[in-house]
Amino acid sequence: MKEKIAGGVYSPIDQTGDSWQFVEKLAAHAVEKLGVKFLYGTTVEGLDIEGDRVRAVMTSAGPIAGDAVVISLGPESGLLGRRYSIDLPVYPVKGYTATIPLEDKSKGPTMGGVDEDQLIAYSRLGNRLRLASTAEFTGFDRTLRPSDFAAMFRTGKDLFPGAFDEKTAELWAGLRPMMPNSVPVIGLARYTNLYLDTGHGHVGWTMACGSGKFLADLVAGRKPDIDPRGLVYRN
Ligand SMILES: Cc1cc2nc3c(=O)[nH]c(=O)nc-3n(C[C@H](O)[C@H](O)[C@H](O)COP(=O)(O)OP(=O)(O)OC[C@H]3O[C@@H](n4cnc5c(N)ncnc54)[C@H](O)[C@@H]3O)c2cc1C
Repeated sequence: MKEKIAGGVYSPIDQTGDSWQFVEKLAAHAVEKLGVKFLYGTTVEGLDIEGDRVRAVMTSAGPIAGDAVVISLGPESGLLGRRYSIDLPVYPVKGYTATIPLEDKSKGPTMGGVDEDQLIAYSRLGNRLRLASTAEFTGFDRTLRPSDFAAMFRTGKDLFPGAFDEKTAELWAGLRPMMPNSVPVIGLARYTNLYLDTGHGHVGWTMACGSGKFLADLVAGRKPDIDPRGLVYRN
């Protein structure tokens, strides 16, 4: 492979992490230290609107009232928003990842990167290699087939020969909540207590903490750290 690589762009501030571990630990912290209540397995069915505000979120566990409501449903955000005349062009763009235990750790990458020719990203998660690729327009379909991963494994083997056996891979397909201009929408929308925090596309985890802080400042009436222009919703 080395003889095929002319060069690369090195970013020393690039970081890799396990997003699953991050959200698990964050949720545990939120429950234990901040008194947050998560309602897992509960579906949002609609909004109960009264005049210019949302009175409650209608869910499979019954209505839930609150001072402020945030639509943050990933690619499904647009489906809910449009029912309340919020023109939110968030669209699902499907991608795949394969996470594979490294058979020979010395042959795996030591940092994350992207093969820009094949558009396949790789990262090292401890003793595992994660490969990610593909942007498909297939609506809300989250199914996966072995053939969806063929190019990814081919490139992975080319880049890191002898590092892994794809038969042991954990396969995943997910939907990126894409906006046409790749800029998320964060802020008030149509009602006096309804906020959006969605449309982060292919970098939603990277932007998650910053977006949360920005939105929390808006909801609390504080001046956000960054200029809100460009992020706010306009109907
Ligand atoms: C292959 C792939 C690789 C990626 N790689 C990276 C990366 O390296 N770095 C990065 O920063 N980002 C990456 N992303 C993007 C990142 O995953 C998304 O931007 C991020 O998950 C968006 O977060 P979200 O909370 O807005 O939406 P989601 O993660 O989609 O979460 C929305 C949640 O809302 C729930 N929901 C939807 N409708 C309802 C309803 N009616 N009732 C109740 N719950 C509902 C869903 O179940 C889901 O849990 C990648 C995405 C893909 C597909």
